[in-house]
Amino acid sequence: MKVPFLDLKLQHAPLRAEVLAALADTFDNTRFCLGKDVEDFEKSFSTTLGYPRTLGMNSGTSPLHVASLCGGFGPGDEVITTPFTFASSCWGISYVGAKPVFVDIDPDTWCISPEAIAKAITPRTKGIVVVHIFGQPARMDEIMAVAKQHNLFVVEDCAQAVGARYKGVPVGVIGDCGTFSFYPTKNLGACGEGGAFVSKHPAVMDKAQLLRVHGSPKRYAHAEVGFNFRMDGFQGAVLNIKLRHLARWTERRRAIAAKYRAGIKHKDIQLPVVPAYGESVWHQFTLLHPQRDALRVHLEKNGVGTEIIYPGPMHRQECYASLGYAAGSLPLAEKTSATCVSLPIFPELTDEQVEHVIKTVNSF
Ligand SMILES: *Cc1c(COP(=O)(O)O)cnc(C)c1O
Repeated sequence: MKVPFLDLKLQHAPLRAEVLAALADTFDNTRFCLGKDVEDFEKSFSTTLGYPRTLGMNSGTSPLHVASLCGGFGPGDEVITTPFTFASSCWGISYVGAKPVFVDIDPDTWCISPEAIAKAITPRTKGIVVVHIFGQPARMDEIMAVAKQHNLFVVEDCAQAVGARYKGVPVGVIGDCGTFSFYPTKNLGACGEGGAFVSKHPAVMDKAQLLRVHGSPKRYAHAEVGFNFRMDGFQGAVLNIKLRHLARWTERRRAIAAKYRAGIKHKDIQLPVVPAYGESVWHQFTLLHPQRDALRVHLEKNGVGTEIIYPGPMHRQECYASLGYAAGSLPLAEKTSATCVSLPIFPELTDEQVEHVIKTVNSF
């Protein structure tokens, strides 16, 4: 039996006619940059997921850049973040000339450790970039307590956690602002690039809105040096349609994760932990095994697609070599990177495929 790691065609086939009609309407009415499709999407994203307001942007990296500017990060500032993430989480910090300070992760959630944040605070610390990795909300109460004590601006990178809640509160409005990516492989994926920005502070939203379009409060007036971070109309139209299915897709991801968690029984495997404060939306289902490369070969041999996400933690990447983190400096992040393997978890998997994955893992 073949179980691909991800097959977006299965998600798109039933939506094809509806999506193509919507794209034709956008084309015929020349709504290419922001416009009604994006506004409609922003409204439905806000009401469906529980945000006061949403700003559609052109990627998941752009809102992280905007977040750093909203937090007032700049040269001489330190911003604490996690090494176990996709690179973009750190780019926002570096784009504005601030210094990323990498700290180790929590052994259960694989998100940034609140205890490690507390130990890394210096007089130059200005903020924290939290990543809800694989869709699992980080331990936000503890993180916000440290942030409050030291007056830090907290960015939540929710690229992998669309629809996730922490103690009932949607991710992104627990900290000072939240960012999303609609890269095609994300839980809510555009047909191209896309992202969004949210904040519980109206003033932060206003500033982000200004920065999104050339710092312009009105046409040809420029209050700040801004960007072109507009979402394009076609992506708004696609996302509007796909958003209606997100809750169902998330439910299916959770059902598959529950099957994996109940069915995988292997003495050497560490499965993801589900904390009482809020379950993951399972962007990835990742497990740790000391011989993960051999496990991966075994899975591939039996038709099961896998990925290593992420093979190298950010503090050990060449681009941050000048920061001077030695091998072994953040042992949990390094061990997780060295032992992780992600299984297929997209909503269109059949129960038979899920059973095949479980049997194959258990027979290793
Ligand atoms: C995908 C992703 C991003 C960036 O998104 P793009 O849309 O590719 O710019 C940022 N952070 C995390 C954690 C991601 O997974």
